[in-house]
Amino acid sequence: MLPRPRGILFLISRAAWLAAVLLFLPGDLLADTYTSNVVCRSGLAVERREELASKLRKITGWNNLRFDTVGALRLGTNPLGGSKQARELLSQVVTGSAAVVIEDASKRADVAFCQVLPGKWRTNVQDTRPAFVVQIDFADFESVIGDAPALQAFDAGWGLLHEFDHVVHNSLDATCLGETGECEAHINEMRRECGLPERSEYFHTYSPLTAHSPFISRLVQLSFEQEEAKSRRRKRYLLVWDANLVGGLTEDKKIASMR
Ligand SMILES: [Zn+2]
Repeated sequence: MLPRPRGILFLISRAAWLAAVLLFLPGDLLADTYTSNVVCRSGLAVERREELASKLRKITGWNNLRFDTVGALRLGTNPLGGSKQARELLSQVVTGSAAVVIEDASKRADVAFCQVLPGKWRTNVQDTRPAFVVQIDFADFESVIGDAPALQAFDAGWGLLHEFDHVVHNSLDATCLGETGECEAHINEMRRECGLPERSEYFHTYSPLTAHSPFISRLVQLSFEQEEAKSRRRKRYLLVWDANLVGGLTEDKKIASMR
């Protein structure tokens, strides 16, 4: 009989309990190279796991990257194109010193796109590794419209990498308008390696369209830039979404924030 997977509960900050069950591989595989520190929570549907894997395959060039049958992230081999730095980041998080659970937080008002929260092992669990929960609101990404190159540079795969960078490098986000911040600066280097436009700011801002909209919407925009090869001119690409649906508005600063 195979050993039973261990069930682990995390205490999420803001005093909210989330039953995040880590589905570790059977014990006979734990000690070798099959070990992965990144696992999907059981509520993350197989279709969403494949959606995430597909986006990560495109970014990394690892065509055989996948989530296995118990939801553990398995890195690929023999990359074809893609971002070298994204492969390095994924390797560091999968083999690193922290445990990471990926959770589906779609349509949750308190999650705008993605966020990572610190976890705490339950008292009856022996594991003392640092633990984190990455929450992804897939519905938020589906509500974004805009220029195709910017849409390719801003999806759930890029959002996951952003949160992984926080976990691995303890990198910081921007605190002022007009900055990209340490974390997104790393992600922009990966976008460059993929031939995609770079995010030119961390905070999204109110769209001029909001003032003219006949609907009760709070349109915000986020800009990306890329230098054209021939003209050497920087071309701007825009994404727009309704912050009433996505969330993330910070009223006191009159700007929209996203972790
Ligand atoms: Zn962040």
